[in-house]
Amino acid sequence: MTLDIKQLTIKQAHELLINKKMSVLELAEAILKVAEDTRDLNAYLEIFDDVREQAEVAQKMIDEGKGTTLTGIPFAMKDNILIKGRIASASSKILENYTATYDAHVTKKLRDAGVIFVGRTNMDEFAMGGSTENSAFGVTKNPHDKTRVPGGSSGGSAAVVASGSALGALGTDTGGSIRQPAAFCGVVGLKPTYGSVSRSGLIAMASSLDQAGPFAKTVEDAEIIFDCIKGHDSMDSTSYTDEFINIKNKKPKIIGVPTEFVHAKGVDERVLKNFEESLEQMKNAGYEIKEISLPSLAHGLAVYYILMPAEVSSNLARFDGVRYGYHADGQNLLEDYMRSRGEGFGREVRRRILLGTYVLSAGYYDSYYGRACALREMLKKDLEKAFGGVDIIATPTTPTPAFKIGEKSNDPLQMYLADIFTVPVNIAGVPAISVPSGFIKEGDSMLPLGMQFIAPHFGESALFEVGKDFEKVQESNRI
Ligand code: GLN
Repeated sequence: MTLDIKQLTIKQAHELLINKKMSVLELAEAILKVAEDTRDLNAYLEIFDDVREQAEVAQKMIDEGKGTTLTGIPFAMKDNILIKGRIASASSKILENYTATYDAHVTKKLRDAGVIFVGRTNMDEFAMGGSTENSAFGVTKNPHDKTRVPGGSSGGSAAVVASGSALGALGTDTGGSIRQPAAFCGVVGLKPTYGSVSRSGLIAMASSLDQAGPFAKTVEDAEIIFDCIKGHDSMDSTSYTDEFINIKNKKPKIIGVPTEFVHAKGVDERVLKNFEESLEQMKNAGYEIKEISLPSLAHGLAVYYILMPAEVSSNLARFDGVRYGYHADGQNLLEDYMRSRGEGFGREVRRRILLGTYVLSAGYYDSYYGRACALREMLKKDLEKAFGGVDIIATPTTPTPAFKIGEKSNDPLQMYLADIFTVPVNIAGVPAISVPSGFIKEGDSMLPLGMQFIAPHFGESALFEVGKDFEKVQESNRI
Protein backbone atom coordinates (compact mmCIF):
# COMPACT_ATOMS: atom_id res chain seq x y z
CA MET A 1 0.00 0.00 0.00
CA THR A 2 1.41 3.38 -0.90
CA LEU A 3 1.23 6.13 1.63
CA ASP A 4 -0.86 9.15 0.73
CA ILE A 5 0.97 11.87 2.57
CA LYS A 6 -1.87 14.34 2.04
CA GLN A 7 -4.32 12.13 3.96
CA LEU A 8 -1.94 11.36 6.82
CA THR A 9 -3.18 12.19 10.34
CA ILE A 10 -1.02 13.18 13.29
CA LYS A 11 -1.81 9.92 15.04
CA GLN A 12 -0.77 7.86 12.01
CA ALA A 13 2.38 9.91 11.41
CA HIS A 14 3.33 9.50 15.07
CA GLU A 15 3.07 5.73 14.74
CA LEU A 16 5.21 5.72 11.59
CA LEU A 17 7.84 7.80 13.36
CA ILE A 18 8.08 5.79 16.56
CA ASN A 19 8.05 2.49 14.70
CA LYS A 20 10.88 3.82 12.51
CA LYS A 21 8.86 3.28 9.34
CA MET A 22 9.77 6.82 8.44
CA SER A 23 12.28 9.37 9.71
CA VAL A 24 11.29 12.85 10.82
CA LEU A 25 13.33 14.26 7.94
CA GLU A 26 11.57 12.06 5.37
CA LEU A 27 8.20 13.19 6.69
CA ALA A 28 9.26 16.85 6.74
CA GLU A 29 10.59 16.66 3.18
CA ALA A 30 7.43 15.00 1.91
CA ILE A 31 5.37 17.78 3.50
CA LEU A 32 7.64 20.49 2.06
CA LYS A 33 7.07 18.94 -1.36
CA VAL A 34 3.28 19.18 -0.88
CA ALA A 35 3.72 22.80 0.19
CA GLU A 36 5.73 23.46 -2.97
CA ASP A 37 3.13 21.72 -5.17
CA THR A 38 0.28 23.74 -3.62
CA ARG A 39 1.96 27.14 -3.61
CA ASP A 40 -0.74 28.57 -5.83
CA LEU A 41 -3.13 28.43 -2.85
CA ASN A 42 -1.14 31.25 -1.19
CA ALA A 43 -1.78 29.60 2.16
CA TYR A 44 1.74 30.05 3.54
CA LEU A 45 3.19 33.54 3.86
CA GLU A 46 6.57 32.00 4.58
CA ILE A 47 8.08 28.54 4.69
CA PHE A 48 10.82 28.49 7.30
CA ASP A 49 14.42 27.86 6.25
CA ASP A 50 15.29 25.67 9.25
CA VAL A 51 12.78 22.83 8.82
CA ARG A 52 15.58 20.30 8.33
CA GLU A 53 17.44 21.46 11.45
CA GLN A 54 14.21 21.23 13.45
CA ALA A 55 13.72 17.72 12.09
CA GLU A 56 17.13 16.71 13.42
CA VAL A 57 16.25 17.93 16.92
CA ALA A 58 12.91 16.08 16.85
CA GLN A 59 14.54 12.87 15.59
CA LYS A 60 16.94 13.01 18.51
CA MET A 61 14.03 13.38 20.94
CA ILE A 62 12.36 10.29 19.45
CA ASP A 63 15.58 8.27 19.40
CA GLU A 64 16.24 9.09 23.03
CA GLY A 65 12.72 8.11 24.03
CA LYS A 66 11.83 11.69 24.96
CA GLY A 67 9.20 12.22 22.28
CA THR A 68 5.52 13.11 22.61
CA THR A 69 2.70 12.39 20.15
CA LEU A 70 3.55 15.69 18.47
CA THR A 71 7.31 15.16 18.14
CA GLY A 72 8.38 15.46 14.51
CA ILE A 73 4.92 16.50 13.32
CA PRO A 74 5.00 19.21 10.60
CA PHE A 75 2.89 22.09 11.90
CA ALA A 76 1.78 25.54 10.72
CA MET A 77 1.14 28.72 12.69
CA LYS A 78 -1.21 31.58 11.92
CA ASP A 79 0.71 34.78 11.35
CA ASN A 80 -0.58 36.47 14.53
CA ILE A 81 1.11 33.98 16.89
CA LEU A 82 4.65 34.90 17.94
CA ILE A 83 7.57 32.60 17.17
CA LYS A 84 10.82 34.00 18.51
CA GLY A 85 13.08 35.30 15.73
CA ARG A 86 10.38 35.01 13.07
CA ILE A 87 8.27 37.67 11.43
CA ALA A 88 4.74 37.96 12.83
CA SER A 89 2.88 40.38 10.58
CA ALA A 90 -0.78 39.51 11.28
CA SER A 91 -0.97 39.84 7.46
CA SER A 92 -0.70 43.61 7.84
CA LYS A 93 1.57 46.07 6.10
CA ILE A 94 2.05 47.85 9.43
CA LEU A 95 3.83 44.78 10.88
CA GLU A 96 5.35 43.50 7.63
CA ASN A 97 8.87 43.59 9.04
CA TYR A 98 8.15 42.96 12.69
CA THR A 99 10.21 40.13 14.17
CA ALA A 100 8.96 38.46 17.35
CA THR A 101 11.30 38.78 20.32
CA TYR A 102 9.75 35.93 22.29
CA ASP A 103 7.66 32.79 21.86
CA ALA A 104 3.93 32.89 22.51
CA HIS A 105 2.92 30.52 25.32
CA VAL A 106 1.31 28.17 22.78
CA THR A 107 4.43 28.27 20.60
CA LYS A 108 6.61 27.32 23.55
CA LYS A 109 4.33 24.42 24.45
CA LEU A 110 4.39 23.10 20.89
CA ARG A 111 8.15 23.62 20.61
CA ASP A 112 8.72 21.72 23.86
CA ALA A 113 6.55 18.91 22.50
CA GLY A 114 8.88 18.72 19.47
CA VAL A 115 6.68 19.88 16.57
CA ILE A 116 8.32 21.07 13.37
CA PHE A 117 7.23 24.61 12.51
CA VAL A 118 6.89 24.54 8.73
CA GLY A 119 5.82 28.14 8.26
CA ARG A 120 3.38 30.92 9.02
CA THR A 121 -0.01 31.07 7.39
CA ASN A 122 -2.02 33.78 5.69
CA MET A 123 -4.99 35.43 7.41
CA ASP A 124 -7.28 38.41 7.28
CA GLU A 125 -5.39 41.47 8.50
CA PHE A 126 -5.31 41.41 12.32
CA ALA A 127 -7.84 38.54 12.13
CA MET A 128 -10.59 40.87 10.92
CA GLY A 129 -12.61 39.08 8.29
CA GLY A 130 -14.04 35.78 7.18
CA SER A 131 -12.34 35.10 3.85
CA THR A 132 -8.58 36.07 3.98
CA GLU A 133 -9.44 38.70 1.36
CA ASN A 134 -8.40 41.35 3.90
CA SER A 135 -4.80 40.09 3.97
CA ALA A 136 -2.21 42.64 2.83
CA PHE A 137 -0.50 39.74 1.05
CA GLY A 138 -3.18 38.41 -1.27
CA VAL A 139 -6.13 36.06 -0.82
CA THR A 140 -5.74 32.35 0.02
CA LYS A 141 -7.62 29.96 -2.25
CA ASN A 142 -9.88 27.16 -1.10
CA PRO A 143 -8.21 23.79 -1.85
CA HIS A 144 -11.62 22.33 -2.83
CA ASP A 145 -12.30 25.06 -5.40
CA LYS A 146 -9.67 27.65 -6.21
CA THR A 147 -12.23 30.23 -7.28
CA ARG A 148 -13.56 30.29 -3.71
CA VAL A 149 -12.35 31.63 -0.37
CA PRO A 150 -11.05 29.27 2.33
CA GLY A 151 -12.93 31.26 4.97
CA GLY A 152 -11.20 33.36 7.55
CA SER A 153 -9.63 34.83 9.33
CA SER A 154 -7.46 31.71 9.81
CA GLY A 155 -7.95 30.72 6.15
CA GLY A 156 -4.27 29.88 5.59
CA SER A 157 -4.17 27.46 8.52
CA ALA A 158 -7.34 25.70 7.35
CA ALA A 159 -6.04 25.47 3.77
CA VAL A 160 -2.65 23.98 4.69
CA VAL A 161 -4.27 21.24 6.76
CA ALA A 162 -6.88 20.54 4.06
CA SER A 163 -4.27 20.41 1.29
CA GLY A 164 -1.79 18.35 3.32
CA SER A 165 1.09 20.83 3.63
CA ALA A 166 0.93 20.56 7.44
CA LEU A 167 -0.57 17.84 9.64
CA GLY A 168 -1.94 20.36 12.12
CA ALA A 169 -2.09 24.11 12.55
CA LEU A 170 -3.02 26.78 15.03
CA GLY A 171 -5.47 29.56 14.36
CA THR A 172 -7.23 32.12 16.50
CA ASP A 173 -10.97 32.53 16.89
CA THR A 174 -12.57 35.80 17.98
CA GLY A 175 -15.94 35.32 16.31
CA GLY A 176 -15.53 32.13 14.30
CA SER A 177 -12.11 32.38 12.69
CA ILE A 178 -11.19 28.76 13.41
CA ARG A 179 -14.57 27.07 12.98
CA GLN A 180 -15.73 28.88 9.82
CA PRO A 181 -12.57 28.20 7.74
CA ALA A 182 -12.50 24.64 9.10
CA ALA A 183 -16.04 24.16 7.75
CA PHE A 184 -15.22 25.78 4.39
CA CYS A 185 -12.11 23.63 3.92
CA GLY A 186 -13.49 20.32 5.25
CA VAL A 187 -11.30 19.97 8.35
CA VAL A 188 -11.84 19.96 12.12
CA GLY A 189 -11.48 23.24 14.05
CA LEU A 190 -11.77 23.83 17.79
CA LYS A 191 -12.42 27.12 19.62
CA PRO A 192 -11.50 26.32 23.23
CA THR A 193 -13.12 27.74 26.37
CA TYR A 194 -12.02 31.34 26.90
CA GLY A 195 -9.17 31.20 29.42
CA SER A 196 -8.12 27.60 28.84
CA VAL A 197 -5.40 28.42 26.30
CA SER A 198 -3.08 31.33 27.08
CA ARG A 199 -3.31 34.45 24.93
CA SER A 200 0.22 35.51 25.84
CA GLY A 201 2.10 36.17 22.61
CA LEU A 202 -0.93 36.40 20.34
CA ILE A 203 -1.35 39.68 18.45
CA ALA A 204 -4.58 40.84 20.06
CA MET A 205 -7.75 41.60 18.14
CA ALA A 206 -10.52 41.72 20.77
CA SER A 207 -9.09 40.52 24.07
CA SER A 208 -12.32 39.40 25.74
CA LEU A 209 -13.14 37.15 22.77
CA ASP A 210 -9.81 35.91 21.32
CA GLN A 211 -8.77 32.27 21.77
CA ALA A 212 -6.14 30.18 19.99
CA GLY A 213 -7.04 26.67 18.92
CA PRO A 214 -6.22 23.78 16.61
CA PHE A 215 -6.99 22.73 13.04
CA ALA A 216 -6.61 19.04 12.20
CA LYS A 217 -7.97 16.34 9.92
CA THR A 218 -9.65 14.43 12.74
CA VAL A 219 -11.20 15.16 16.13
CA GLU A 220 -8.59 12.88 17.71
CA ASP A 221 -5.77 15.00 16.24
CA ALA A 222 -7.45 18.22 17.40
CA GLU A 223 -7.59 16.75 20.90
CA ILE A 224 -3.88 15.90 20.80
CA ILE A 225 -3.04 19.51 19.88
CA PHE A 226 -5.45 20.98 22.44
CA ASP A 227 -3.97 18.79 25.18
CA CYS A 228 -0.56 20.23 24.33
CA ILE A 229 -1.46 23.93 24.22
CA LYS A 230 -4.00 24.19 27.07
CA GLY A 231 -3.12 25.07 30.64
CA HIS A 232 -2.70 27.90 33.08
CA ASP A 233 -0.25 30.69 32.28
CA SER A 234 0.67 33.41 34.75
CA MET A 235 1.39 35.76 31.81
CA ASP A 236 -2.31 35.84 30.89
CA SER A 237 -4.48 37.30 33.66
CA THR A 238 -7.62 35.72 32.15
CA SER A 239 -6.10 32.23 32.22
CA TYR A 240 -7.93 29.71 34.42
CA THR A 241 -6.20 27.31 36.78
CA ASP A 242 -5.59 23.75 35.62
CA GLU A 243 -8.21 22.20 37.90
CA PHE A 244 -10.87 23.91 35.76
CA ILE A 245 -9.15 23.40 32.43
CA ASN A 246 -8.71 19.66 32.98
CA ILE A 247 -12.28 18.88 34.06
CA LYS A 248 -13.48 15.57 32.59
CA ASN A 249 -17.11 15.76 31.47
CA LYS A 250 -19.73 13.07 31.69
CA LYS A 251 -20.61 11.38 28.43
CA PRO A 252 -22.91 13.68 26.44
CA LYS A 253 -26.30 12.18 25.55
CA ILE A 254 -28.70 15.02 24.81
CA ILE A 255 -28.15 17.41 21.90
CA GLY A 256 -30.15 20.63 21.99
CA VAL A 257 -31.12 22.34 18.74
CA PRO A 258 -32.19 26.00 18.70
CA THR A 259 -34.44 25.36 15.69
CA GLU A 260 -35.80 28.88 15.36
CA PHE A 261 -32.30 30.39 15.32
CA VAL A 262 -30.93 27.81 12.88
CA HIS A 263 -33.71 28.64 10.41
CA ALA A 264 -32.76 32.33 10.36
CA LYS A 265 -33.16 34.29 7.16
CA GLY A 266 -30.34 33.79 4.70
CA VAL A 267 -29.41 30.23 5.67
CA ASP A 268 -28.89 28.12 2.55
CA GLU A 269 -31.55 25.37 2.10
CA ARG A 270 -28.87 22.80 1.34
CA VAL A 271 -27.09 23.66 4.59
CA LEU A 272 -30.34 23.11 6.49
CA LYS A 273 -30.91 19.77 4.75
CA ASN A 274 -27.39 18.64 5.59
CA PHE A 275 -27.94 19.74 9.19
CA GLU A 276 -31.23 17.82 9.54
CA GLU A 277 -29.62 14.70 8.06
CA SER A 278 -26.69 15.01 10.45
CA LEU A 279 -29.05 15.23 13.42
CA GLU A 280 -30.92 12.18 12.19
CA GLN A 281 -27.65 10.25 12.06
CA MET A 282 -26.81 11.28 15.61
CA LYS A 283 -30.24 10.14 16.71
CA ASN A 284 -29.61 6.75 15.13
CA ALA A 285 -26.30 6.64 16.96
CA GLY A 286 -28.16 6.89 20.28
CA TYR A 287 -28.27 10.62 21.01
CA GLU A 288 -31.46 12.30 22.12
CA ILE A 289 -32.27 15.39 20.05
CA LYS A 290 -34.18 18.06 21.92
CA GLU A 291 -35.54 21.31 20.59
CA ILE A 292 -34.56 24.35 22.65
CA SER A 293 -35.44 28.00 22.49
CA LEU A 294 -32.63 30.53 22.70
CA PRO A 295 -34.07 33.84 21.47
CA SER A 296 -31.08 35.90 22.68
CA LEU A 297 -28.80 34.12 20.18
CA ALA A 298 -30.39 36.30 17.52
CA HIS A 299 -28.68 39.33 19.15
CA GLY A 300 -25.25 37.72 18.90
CA LEU A 301 -24.13 39.48 15.75
CA ALA A 302 -25.29 42.91 16.92
CA VAL A 303 -23.49 42.49 20.24
CA TYR A 304 -20.33 41.20 18.57
CA TYR A 305 -20.12 44.04 16.06
CA ILE A 306 -20.17 46.57 18.92
CA LEU A 307 -17.93 44.86 21.49
CA MET A 308 -15.35 43.58 19.01
CA PRO A 309 -14.61 46.94 17.27
CA ALA A 310 -14.54 48.68 20.67
CA GLU A 311 -11.77 46.33 21.80
CA VAL A 312 -10.07 46.51 18.40
CA SER A 313 -9.89 50.30 18.57
CA SER A 314 -8.11 50.24 21.91
CA ASN A 315 -5.87 47.22 21.17
CA LEU A 316 -4.65 48.66 17.87
CA ALA A 317 -3.87 52.09 19.35
CA ARG A 318 -0.38 50.77 20.14
CA PHE A 319 0.60 50.61 16.47
CA ASP A 320 1.85 54.16 16.05
CA GLY A 321 4.85 53.53 13.79
CA VAL A 322 7.21 54.98 16.39
CA ARG A 323 8.78 52.06 18.22
CA TYR A 324 8.25 49.39 15.58
CA GLY A 325 6.28 48.67 12.45
CA TYR A 326 5.57 50.68 9.33
CA HIS A 327 6.54 54.34 9.60
CA ALA A 328 5.73 57.24 7.27
CA ASP A 329 7.06 60.77 7.89
CA GLY A 330 4.72 63.74 8.13
CA GLN A 331 5.31 67.43 8.95
CA ASN A 332 4.85 66.83 12.69
CA LEU A 333 4.17 63.99 15.15
CA LEU A 334 0.41 63.97 14.57
CA GLU A 335 0.91 63.72 10.82
CA ASP A 336 3.43 60.92 11.41
CA TYR A 337 0.74 58.98 13.23
CA MET A 338 -1.90 59.70 10.64
CA ARG A 339 0.26 58.69 7.73
CA SER A 340 1.76 55.60 9.43
CA ARG A 341 -1.64 54.29 10.52
CA GLY A 342 -3.50 55.45 7.41
CA GLU A 343 -1.04 53.74 5.08
CA GLY A 344 -0.12 50.82 7.36
CA PHE A 345 -3.65 49.55 8.07
CA GLY A 346 -6.01 48.21 5.41
CA ARG A 347 -9.61 49.32 4.79
CA GLU A 348 -11.43 46.83 7.02
CA VAL A 349 -9.09 47.45 9.95
CA ARG A 350 -9.55 51.22 9.63
CA ARG A 351 -13.32 50.76 9.39
CA ARG A 352 -13.37 48.80 12.66
CA ILE A 353 -11.08 51.24 14.48
CA LEU A 354 -13.44 54.07 13.49
CA LEU A 355 -16.54 52.12 14.51
CA GLY A 356 -15.00 51.11 17.81
CA THR A 357 -13.84 54.61 18.65
CA TYR A 358 -17.34 55.86 17.89
CA VAL A 359 -19.18 53.37 20.12
CA LEU A 360 -16.82 54.15 22.99
CA SER A 361 -17.05 57.93 22.68
CA ALA A 362 -18.74 60.12 25.27
CA GLY A 363 -22.45 60.39 24.62
CA TYR A 364 -22.62 57.09 22.71
CA TYR A 365 -20.96 54.77 25.21
CA ASP A 366 -24.16 53.95 27.11
CA SER A 367 -26.39 53.47 24.11
CA TYR A 368 -23.94 51.18 22.27
CA TYR A 369 -21.15 49.69 24.36
CA GLY A 370 -23.12 49.65 27.63
CA ARG A 371 -26.14 48.00 26.05
CA ALA A 372 -24.01 45.44 24.23
CA CYS A 373 -22.37 44.50 27.55
CA ALA A 374 -25.81 44.04 29.14
CA LEU A 375 -26.96 41.85 26.24
CA ARG A 376 -23.77 39.82 26.53
CA GLU A 377 -24.73 38.93 30.10
CA MET A 378 -28.24 38.00 28.97
CA LEU A 379 -26.91 35.73 26.25
CA LYS A 380 -24.55 34.03 28.71
CA LYS A 381 -27.38 33.42 31.17
CA ASP A 382 -29.71 32.06 28.48
CA LEU A 383 -27.04 29.63 27.31
CA GLU A 384 -26.33 28.53 30.87
CA LYS A 385 -30.02 27.87 31.35
CA ALA A 386 -30.21 25.87 28.12
CA PHE A 387 -27.28 23.73 29.25
CA GLY A 388 -29.34 22.80 32.31
CA GLY A 389 -31.43 20.56 30.04
CA VAL A 390 -28.99 19.47 27.31
CA ASP A 391 -25.32 18.42 27.19
CA ILE A 392 -24.41 19.86 23.80
CA ILE A 393 -25.97 22.42 21.46
CA ALA A 394 -25.70 21.87 17.70
CA THR A 395 -25.98 24.30 14.79
CA PRO A 396 -24.53 24.37 11.28
CA THR A 397 -21.11 26.06 11.48
CA THR A 398 -21.89 28.44 8.62
CA PRO A 399 -25.06 29.58 6.84
CA THR A 400 -23.57 28.84 3.40
CA PRO A 401 -20.70 26.85 1.87
CA ALA A 402 -17.51 28.67 0.82
CA PHE A 403 -18.36 31.66 -1.34
CA LYS A 404 -16.58 32.96 -4.43
CA ILE A 405 -13.53 35.18 -4.13
CA GLY A 406 -14.81 38.75 -4.51
CA GLU A 407 -18.48 37.80 -3.95
CA LYS A 408 -18.83 39.58 -0.61
CA SER A 409 -15.71 41.69 -0.35
CA ASN A 410 -17.50 44.93 -1.21
CA ASP A 411 -20.41 44.29 1.12
CA PRO A 412 -19.22 44.16 4.73
CA LEU A 413 -22.72 43.54 6.09
CA GLN A 414 -23.11 40.39 3.98
CA MET A 415 -19.70 39.28 5.15
CA TYR A 416 -20.63 39.87 8.81
CA LEU A 417 -23.77 37.71 8.39
CA ALA A 418 -21.55 34.71 7.67
CA ASP A 419 -20.63 34.74 11.39
CA ILE A 420 -24.17 34.28 12.66
CA PHE A 421 -23.70 30.79 14.15
CA THR A 422 -20.20 31.24 15.48
CA VAL A 423 -20.11 34.60 17.32
CA PRO A 424 -22.51 33.73 20.20
CA VAL A 425 -19.96 31.13 21.32
CA ASN A 426 -17.20 33.72 21.73
CA ILE A 427 -19.56 36.15 23.44
CA ALA A 428 -20.38 33.51 26.05
CA GLY A 429 -16.77 32.22 26.25
CA VAL A 430 -17.82 28.58 25.84
CA PRO A 431 -16.01 26.02 23.65
CA ALA A 432 -17.20 24.76 20.25
CA ILE A 433 -15.91 22.46 17.55
CA SER A 434 -16.63 22.29 13.83
CA VAL A 435 -16.59 18.78 12.36
CA PRO A 436 -16.99 18.08 8.60
CA SER A 437 -20.57 17.06 7.82
CA GLY A 438 -20.36 16.18 4.13
CA PHE A 439 -20.36 18.04 0.84
CA ILE A 440 -22.72 19.80 -1.48
CA LYS A 441 -22.27 19.89 -5.21
CA GLU A 442 -21.91 23.32 -6.77
CA GLY A 443 -21.09 23.23 -10.48
CA ASP A 444 -18.03 21.01 -10.84
CA SER A 445 -17.01 21.40 -7.21
CA MET A 446 -17.82 19.48 -4.09
CA LEU A 447 -17.95 22.04 -1.28
CA PRO A 448 -17.50 20.91 2.34
CA LEU A 449 -19.91 21.81 5.14
CA GLY A 450 -19.43 21.74 8.90
CA MET A 451 -21.48 20.85 11.95
CA GLN A 452 -20.90 22.96 15.06
CA PHE A 453 -21.13 21.38 18.52
CA ILE A 454 -21.16 23.77 21.49
CA ALA A 455 -20.52 22.76 25.12
CA PRO A 456 -20.64 24.59 28.46
CA HIS A 457 -17.40 26.10 29.89
CA PHE A 458 -14.59 23.50 30.10
CA GLY A 459 -16.68 21.05 28.09
CA GLU A 460 -13.91 20.18 25.60
CA SER A 461 -13.82 16.49 26.52
CA ALA A 462 -17.56 16.25 25.79
CA LEU A 463 -16.97 17.97 22.44
CA PHE A 464 -14.28 15.45 21.52
CA GLU A 465 -16.59 12.61 22.43
CA VAL A 466 -19.55 13.86 20.44
CA GLY A 467 -17.23 14.89 17.59
CA LYS A 468 -15.73 11.39 17.34
CA ASP A 469 -19.19 9.83 17.37
CA PHE A 470 -20.20 12.19 14.59
CA GLU A 471 -17.13 11.23 12.54
CA LYS A 472 -18.09 7.57 12.97
CA VAL A 473 -21.63 8.03 11.69
CA GLN A 474 -20.32 10.09 8.78
CA GLU A 475 -17.83 7.38 7.96
CA SER A 476 -20.39 4.55 8.05
CA ASN A 477 -22.67 6.64 5.87
CA ARG A 478 -20.03 6.92 3.18
CA ILE A 479 -19.43 3.17 3.04
N1 GLN B 1 -15.32 36.86 10.75
C1 GLN B 1 -15.31 37.48 12.04
C2 GLN B 1 -14.86 38.90 11.95
O1 GLN B 1 -14.67 39.35 10.88
C3 GLN B 1 -14.48 36.67 12.99
C4 GLN B 1 -13.05 37.03 13.05
C5 GLN B 1 -12.26 36.21 14.00
O2 GLN B 1 -12.78 35.29 14.63
N2 GLN B 1 -11.00 36.58 14.16
O3 GLN B 1 -14.69 39.58 12.91
